[in-house]
Amino acid sequence: MKKIQMVDLKGQYEGIKNQVNNSFQEVLENTSFINGPEVHNFQSELEKYLGVNHVIPCANGTDALQIAMMGLGLKPGDEVITVDFTFAATVEVIALLGLTPVLVDVEKDSFNIDPVAIKNAITPKTKAIVPVHLFGQSANMDGVMEIANEHNLYVIEDNAQAIGANYHFKDGSIKKTGTIGHIGTTSFFPSKNLGCYGDGGALFTNDEKLAHTIRGIVNHGMYERYHHDVVGVNSRLDSLQAAVLRAKLPNLDAYNNARRNAAKLYSEKLRRNKNIQAPTIVGDDDTHVFHQYSLRILNGKRDELLKHLQSKDIPCGIYYPIPLHSQKAYKDNRYNEGDFKNTNELVKEVIALPMHTELEEEQINYITQTINDFI
Ligand SMILES: *Cc1c(COP(=O)(O)O)cnc(C)c1O
Repeated sequence: MKKIQMVDLKGQYEGIKNQVNNSFQEVLENTSFINGPEVHNFQSELEKYLGVNHVIPCANGTDALQIAMMGLGLKPGDEVITVDFTFAATVEVIALLGLTPVLVDVEKDSFNIDPVAIKNAITPKTKAIVPVHLFGQSANMDGVMEIANEHNLYVIEDNAQAIGANYHFKDGSIKKTGTIGHIGTTSFFPSKNLGCYGDGGALFTNDEKLAHTIRGIVNHGMYERYHHDVVGVNSRLDSLQAAVLRAKLPNLDAYNNARRNAAKLYSEKLRRNKNIQAPTIVGDDDTHVFHQYSLRILNGKRDELLKHLQSKDIPCGIYYPIPLHSQKAYKDNRYNEGDFKNTNELVKEVIALPMHTELEEEQINYITQTINDFI
């Protein structure tokens, strides 16, 4: 059996090696390292794939979130509602811009933002909601958009973990996650479902005016060379990274299917264990692209299992071990522990198993056997 890895970027590289190497060579020859043809071509290919009018590449997923909030003109004092159970980048940029993060609880099954909790957190200062499609599964966007429309709020989808997922609306229509709210953001960090070989990110929007504003913000607030109309940032995707992403994009659906198949196999082998809650797919299969495969361990033995798996050379991770509302940087007197019942439990229960496009059945059998023997 091959050595088990949490993420296997090397194995995936083998499949696109020629294309990546040739494109790298081309970029090196023509030296258009910034804003070269690779970046422009990737941008339009991603627009086509997502079915969105505008993709604006930037330097990373955290920048994308910050630029989204700048683009919407959010001002200090404005409140932005997001989840307590996510990677810190989401809340970090809210705080950095002097906005007020308002953290809310997630649903226990989907790990995603709870529309009821959003409703309860709205005040006259609320300006935006940031749902995170956590672990690769779409949040309840019917619920989020309904509340946003009712209260006239912006929606920024943090799609860093779910690129390629579909959301099925109640009316039967389907859209890619990240293209539903006013702005979607993503990260091309190497381990993400569509990852480059360094840092990268992008924003998506169907709003032409907003797209124009954002294109200026990523480039020092310039709409005309050396005319700085707004305060901007320097946030670019470079041509070498775009070349990797162009090689991977045509394979994204196949990559996501490989992840889904691995998840299916995991769940088949673990479902009968009453101390384990396998991930719940809320709705159709294609709403989940399994950035992570996170189990809930219900008998209090999560930490022991973690150590046991490590001793058997099975890597695993805890996403996330501490709720954001309990982090020193994001404490706020307005929070009550009772408002975060689900996050407070999930942080003690979740454990993520190896998940990537190169997992083999033999490896999954070994991992699940080891878990079932222990739990
Ligand atoms: C990875 C990630 C980000 C940040 O992306 P970077 O490219 O690392 O800046 C933001 N939000 C979520 C949910 C993520 O998983």
